[in-house]
Amino acid sequence: MNKTGIPWATHVWNPIKGCSPVSEGCTNCYAKREAEGRLKRCGIAKYQDGFQVRFFPNTLDQPLHRWEPARIFIGSMGDIFHDRIPDSFIMEIFRTAKEAADKNGHKFMLLTKRPLRMLRIMKDVEKEMGVIQGLYIGVTIENSLRFWDRWIPLLDAPADGRFVSFEPLLSPIRVFDVIPHRRIQRTIDLAIIGCESGNNRRPCRHEWAKDLAYGFRLLGIPIFIKQLSRNPDGSGAIIKMPKIGGIVHDQIPEGLRIG
Ligand code: SF4
Repeated sequence: MNKTGIPWATHVWNPIKGCSPVSEGCTNCYAKREAEGRLKRCGIAKYQDGFQVRFFPNTLDQPLHRWEPARIFIGSMGDIFHDRIPDSFIMEIFRTAKEAADKNGHKFMLLTKRPLRMLRIMKDVEKEMGVIQGLYIGVTIENSLRFWDRWIPLLDAPADGRFVSFEPLLSPIRVFDVIPHRRIQRTIDLAIIGCESGNNRRPCRHEWAKDLAYGFRLLGIPIFIKQLSRNPDGSGAIIKMPKIGGIVHDQIPEGLRIG
């Protein structure tokens, strides 16, 4: 388990690595780029086969060895719900997360673009160990096309908290035209927003991010704007934690706070 520069987490825990694309948001996958490039070149053993899907039983107990509470992103180098990761291994990940959350006060966050498998497995998790306190489940939604297919299973998933990462944000998403009329009573606990990174990044207009942020703010949902381009049309260098309306939006919900 390592410290991370991802600003909404303190550590990453990678009991799996590797993945394959599922949608438009995967085109410039950061994890694939790192796995096949820098990490492989550095000679790190688990990346010598690049971005092939693998799971690592010997890493399963890592969160139990850190006593100081941390906010841990599970699986930053892939998607733990990829179909080449067996159910039995995913259940082991959740058993560890529960034990480490209960004993050490850790918080856990994970992200997927495979919401249906996530939903099925989270129901199994709930049956076996109840809702894991301190574990937040998230889906990535990169454009309006993917919105409902990921949003609905997320809301149905048994979890202590739910979040959406709108990163990379690739189109306007007019969620507030529809959300107030559907399931307004049950929604998410955190919205993360960010543009794509990397040499081939696609533009994210500031107005897309602002529309989302404004809507979630009206619902009282914490907003975390992780990165945007320097220019409103989506061009220019990436600015980390940019100010929008003179404010850095770095809210973390109460249930994910540590220390
Ligand atoms: S689902 Fe995530 S990890 Fe997998 S290819 Fe797409 S962006 Fe990469």
